[in-house]
Order: sequence, then structure tokens, then C-alpha cells
Amino acid sequence: MNPWLTALLLVLALGFFAFTMARRLAPLWALRAADRLDRPGERLAALLRFGFGQARLPDRGDVVPGLLHVAIFAAFLVLALRTVTLFGLGFSLDFHLPLLGPDAPIGHAYAFLKDVVVLLALAAAVGFLWRRLVTRPDRVTRSWEGVLILFFIAGLMVTEIGYEGALRVAEGAPFRWLAPAGSLGAAALQGLAPGPAASVGVACFWLHLVLILVFLNFLPFGKHFHIITALPDVYLQRLPPTGALRKLDLESENAEYGVKTVRDLSWKEGLDTYSCTECGRCQTHCPTYVTGKPLSHKEVNRAIRHHLVRQAPELTAIASTGDAAARQAAAEALPALVGEVLAPDTVWACTTCGWCETACPVFIENIPRLVDMRRHQVLVEASFPDEAARVFKNIETQGNPWGIGSNRRAEWCEDLAIPRAGETQDFEWLFFVGCAGAFDDRQKKVSRAIVKVLRAAGVKFAILGEEETCNGDSARRLGNEYLFQTQAAANVELLNARGVKKILVQCPHCLNTLKNELPQFGGHYEVVHHTELIAQLVASGRIRPEAAASLGGKPVTFHDPCYLARWNGITDAPRRALESVPGLSLREMARNRSQGFCCGAGGGRMWLEEKLGTRVNQNRVEEAARTLGEPGGVVATGCPFCLTMVRDGVNELGREDKLKVLDVAEIVAEGIRAP
Ligand code: SF4
Ligand code: SF4
Repeated sequence: MNPWLTALLLVLALGFFAFTMARRLAPLWALRAADRLDRPGERLAALLRFGFGQARLPDRGDVVPGLLHVAIFAAFLVLALRTVTLFGLGFSLDFHLPLLGPDAPIGHAYAFLKDVVVLLALAAAVGFLWRRLVTRPDRVTRSWEGVLILFFIAGLMVTEIGYEGALRVAEGAPFRWLAPAGSLGAAALQGLAPGPAASVGVACFWLHLVLILVFLNFLPFGKHFHIITALPDVYLQRLPPTGALRKLDLESENAEYGVKTVRDLSWKEGLDTYSCTECGRCQTHCPTYVTGKPLSHKEVNRAIRHHLVRQAPELTAIASTGDAAARQAAAEALPALVGEVLAPDTVWACTTCGWCETACPVFIENIPRLVDMRRHQVLVEASFPDEAARVFKNIETQGNPWGIGSNRRAEWCEDLAIPRAGETQDFEWLFFVGCAGAFDDRQKKVSRAIVKVLRAAGVKFAILGEEETCNGDSARRLGNEYLFQTQAAANVELLNARGVKKILVQCPHCLNTLKNELPQFGGHYEVVHHTELIAQLVASGRIRPEAAASLGGKPVTFHDPCYLARWNGITDAPRRALESVPGLSLREMARNRSQGFCCGAGGGRMWLEEKLGTRVNQNRVEEAARTLGEPGGVVATGCPFCLTMVRDGVNELGREDKLKVLDVAEIVAEGIRAP
């Protein structure tokens, strides 16, 4: 062993590492502030489950690479102590960590565990190399860096095995199952005389130390920076309600208008780009990516990361200047993200369905970043699709995206004599009908089905009638934060004035906005989706559905709306409601519940032309058709947008004779007798 050489290696390598880290992290100081240190208990729990527990890796339909990653991650954790020990041995042959000495029971247990993870990590590295070089699945980025890192990992494991094996040969120790890696190494060196075997051991020892230090210094330069930043990124994740977008301050002197340049991103969003592992999980069920639009969460991260690194000198200079005017001028000189780093089509393609975020093992936040870019395009550049302009105008003038006269909002229930919240306080639930439920001819039937169920169950409810206005979800997700805030403030004022406490909605977008976003404006209500209330009414015996004749004995599959299942975790209630109908046979599509596939209408895409790639709704209808089989059946859903998109997909594919599209409420209401 050689203390001087060990010390020299450590000083050089750690010094260079500190220098690189400082350069990589410095630009983050110039980015927007974000409070990510609140609710430490929840953060710690998430870190344990998703960081150290790797809970998102094997459970997303792609089990093998997830397990391989878990093996390598476990090896990194376990071998951290071993690394300290090996550097200690570089100074003194007697070195060992407290409790891990050669005669300590914990030391024996640790040595066994260490050997096991070494072998597993070696197997995992070989498995990943096979995947990268031979099977090459679509979601894996082809890069020399990925291959090099795997060789680093394999090299670390092989040198550990070689070093341990040489020690066993020198000691004449027999094969032992409790030392599997060392015994394997010894078996490999068996034919060597003691001298050469010892030389192999020494070579493995120093090579191992050098590999560790080179590996460490290589990390900050590429995607494997995630090995350092991923755990902090998991801890600093956005906490529930994740379906809520952040409220822009549009009033103050320092009003914000979204993201124009990289400097307008938050430091967390900068850290996100460093943490992307390029695993491609975000793409697998991204409705835009799989239908050929120019959007991949992975590629967006890569583009922004490279840009961030290129702009690092400017950002670091901005962070270090005390002169506010100079800071502002330097910030404005940075290249615009939309147009210069990302194509406008990329920014407008997202349906905000949330697949990418819930699939990402390191909790990278894509949607707030894309919506912030849309916000700048709308609020400052006035650059957005023509169809969006029409929607904004319609909401502004008539309080609904169709632009139908607001005075016609209650026509759907003219003959139903539903009480108005403005005229009575004798109601438990405020039925917030929503624009589609009030104006769309197909969805009006769903509104009436819900009324039928509520009346059969004796639920006291009222509506706002002509007073109701759009919740503003589409405006917000299309970037018009000003219009959204106007709608939100009006809704809160009205709901509070009517003394509303409990709200029933039929649209998951209404649900998400009223439940998760109105609290930003002082509106706090219990908000329930109609499928949840129906499931409760069935469970409490207040309604007893009878068979729905229109199903004709054919099976039903439930299409999970993204804003119901993914953003609000409601997946059981619609299924319970459906299964309460006697004789109904429910079949699951392969992509279901929180891993469902978007219909293509979220994020305001309902109102935009789908000009690129293939159609998202058709992709989903094909899946439903495969699930229901030859006789066809019913695609059930619980969202007006999904109902429209799936029905359009059925028509576009000419499958009207085989597939029916119904809301859960319609299926339940059919077999209920009105009181
Ligand atoms: S964003 Fe997340 S899921 Fe997508 S490639 Fe990066 S780490 Fe993987
Ligand atoms: S939110 Fe949905 S559409 Fe947007 S990038 Fe993520 S997976 Fe794709």
C-alpha cells in the first residue's frame, strides 16, 4: 500500500471534482427561486420510497431494466462503505471502519452482502450492455457515454472480484458460499503461482481506486450526472396537489409572464435537466410521442440541459452581478427557449396528460415548464395557434369555449325544474354542470342522466344556471393565465356568495380546477366527481341500478380520463359504479388506471387542430376495440372531452356499428327508475 500515492490521487481527483461541480451548479443560482424545502416529512417519505426504494423503476410495465437498475443502485449504496475502506487500506493495511473489522459479526454480514451486490451489479451491467448494443429498444438513447459508463461499472466490479480473489489465494482460503465474489475471483486465479496472483491483486486494487476517481469526475459531464443529482431531485419534487399549476403573480411590480429564456426557469427545473437519466420511460405512453408529434420529455430535457451548459458563463455572470439593471439586460440578451432551443410545435403538442411525470423515476417536472413557455408566448409574444385565440375570445365574451350565448347555459334542463343556488339554500350539493354539460348536445344527455340518478337517490342539489361560467382550465393550460385568473376569481366570488361547500362535477377538468386550483384564489370546497358520488350512492343503498338493456350483453371497457385517474387518483369509483349494474361485464384495456392512455384533448388540445402525426384518439379506440373483441361493446368514460374524442375516433375509424361510447352515468341511469 502507498499512503503518498493514495493521498495524491485523492487530492487531485476530489479537487477537480469540486471544481467541476461548482461550475455545473453555479448557473442554477441565476435561475428563478422555488420553495422546495417545505413539508420535510412528506419529502423524506418520498425520498425513502422512490429514491432509496426505487419504487418507480420496476413497476411501469418494463420490469427487467428496472430490476437491473435496482441492482446497480443497491451496489452503489452498499459499496460506498467499501470504497471508504479501500482508500483507507491505501494508507494502512490494518484499516477498517468501526464495526466492519474482519472479526466483527457485522463485518462478516457486510462482506457477504457486498459480494452479493458486486455479482448482481456485474450481471446488471452486462444485461444493460446487451440491451444497449443488441436489443436496442426505441426508448434507449444511442450514446457512447452510456456504453462507457457500463464498462466503468463492470470494471469496478471485476477489479473488486480480482482483488478479493487474490487475497483468498494468498491466504489459501477455500471456496465459501459466504464469500461468493471473492471465491469466484480465487477460482479464476487458481492456476497462478502466489507471486503473480499477488501482483494481480495489487493491480486490481489500484485500478479499482483509479476507476472510482475517474468515474466520479466523469459524472458531471453527461447524463450520468443523475447519479449525483437524482436523490436530491426526488426529495425536492413538487408535492400534491400536483394537478395544480403555479399561480403567476400578474399584479405586482415584479409581475411574471411565464418562461422566455433559460433564466426564467426555476433552479429546480435546471436541476431536473441534470437529473434526466434518458431512460425514456416518459415516452412509452406519451400520446404525442407515440403518435409522431415532435415532443419527447427526454429530448426536451436534453435540449434544455445542453443549452443551460452552453449559457453557463452568462448565467454565472448574471448571478454574480449586484446591479439589477445590468442583470436584467444580460438576462434579456439570452436566447429565447421557444424557437431557438425548442420548436413551437413541441411546446403546443403536449396534452398535459401527466404520463411522463408519473413515469419518471426521478420526478422531473415537464408540464409546468411547458405551460410556462406557453404563458410567455400568449401573454407577451401574442404567438399562439389561431384556434386558441377563438377559445380565449369565447370564454372572455360568453364564459364558455364554444362561444354560445351565456344566457342559454340552462337550456339543457329547462323542463327539469332544477333549483338554482341563487334562489334557495336548501341543497347539499352544488351541481357544477360545466360548459360541455351545458352546451354540448351529446354531453347534455350525460347531465340529464346525472340528474336522474341524483333524484332517484333523493340527493338535494342545485345548479348555478345562467350564473355559471367556465372554470378556465383550457385557458390556463393554453397559457392564458390572465384569462384563467379572471375566471377563477369570478367563480370563487360566486361560489362563496352562494354559500357553496360541496360541489359535484361531471368533468375531470372542472374537478381538478375547482378542487386543486381554486384554493389559490381563496376557494376551498369539497369537490367530487359524479362517478364517485354514484359509487357512494350505490354502496349506501340509496340507488339500486338495474340491467342496462342498451349494452345488449356486450362487454364494457373503461377509459380513464387523465385528469381523473392520473392527476386526482380516482380509478376505483368509476369501476365500482359500472360493476353495480347487473350483468355488466367489465374488461380492462392494457393501458389503464393511472397508466391509462390520453384521448388527446387535455391541455387545451381539445380546441386545437391535430395536424402532425397520427391521431391520438384513434390510437386509443384501436386499443379499446382490441380489448372488447369481435362483438364490440361499450367504451365507458367519465369526461366530456374523452367522450367527444373517443366518439370521434370511433367515427373516424368507421367502427360505429361495433363500438358505443357512453358516460358511466348514462349506463347507471338507464336501469334506474325516476321517482
Ligand atoms: S425525463 Fe424521466 S422518464 Fe424521461 S428520460 Fe428523463 S429520467 Fe427517464
Ligand atoms: S404530459 Fe402527456 S402529452 Fe405531455 S409530454 Fe407528458 S406524456 Fe406527453
